[in-house]
Amino acid sequence: MTTPVSLRIGQGIDVHAFGPGEYVTLGGVQIPHSHGLVAHSDGDVLLHALSDALLGALALGDIGQHFPDTDPRYRGADSRQLLAHVYQLIQENGFSLVNADITVCCERPKLAPHNQAIRESIATVLGCALDQISVKATTTEKLGFTGRQEGILVSALVLVQRSQAA
Ligand code: MG
Repeated sequence: MTTPVSLRIGQGIDVHAFGPGEYVTLGGVQIPHSHGLVAHSDGDVLLHALSDALLGALALGDIGQHFPDTDPRYRGADSRQLLAHVYQLIQENGFSLVNADITVCCERPKLAPHNQAIRESIATVLGCALDQISVKATTTEKLGFTGRQEGILVSALVLVQRSQAA
């Protein structure tokens, strides 16, 4: 990075629609549900938002550029591997994660029973401490597409810090 600042912020948003299936994958954790998520990859809308936030922090594009959904290599891809690849790029640029704050917006499934497992899964992929990863859930009070239970929206914010000369 040419900029001398040592802190950079990134944001990522992703949406996936519900479709046939018996579980959704959020943060690498399979959560039983009446539907799955429609996607080329494993449909991990949470990890896609987080990966986009990390790329955004260093202006490295988006996951659509890095992992085109027209590429058969990414069919059914485990999004933890995509996240690991993205974080490797961040580290190669001399930065590391300070913290991530992730908000999952849906009526169902309820996230509370799975929140800890999701945070642990993400922390494992990124090799960071649990308290660097926040996962929150909210609804839109039955309004809009998430309120009609047509899909899940996830918003992720990250802060990264320069850890070494790139
Ligand atoms: Mg996605």
